Amino acid sequence: MKKTIKKPSFSSHNCIACWKCVEACPRQAIRKVSFLWHKHAVFTYHNCIGCNLCVKTCPKGCFKRQE
Ligand code: SF4
Ligand code: SF4
Repeated sequence: MKKTIKKPSFSSHNCIACWKCVEACPRQAIRKVSFLWHKHAVFTYHNCIGCNLCVKTCPKGCFKRQE
């Protein structure tokens, strides 16, 4: 049976731009949008390997594990 990777879902709604997820991600799948009044993480789904480190790292629950 083929193993499917479950990538987390992401919402930037509660993001406080702490960049913990960016530092935690082993695949550089999370980028920063960093303007003076407009800062949040951006999830680039394509590079993600579904390790869920971002889910564990984000203090605001922006990443959710997909069951
Ligand atoms: S699940 Fe892993 S690879 Fe995917 S965005 Fe989160 S930390 Fe990066
Ligand atoms: S860890 Fe969470 S709050 Fe911090 S930058 Fe990433 S998504 Fe935003």
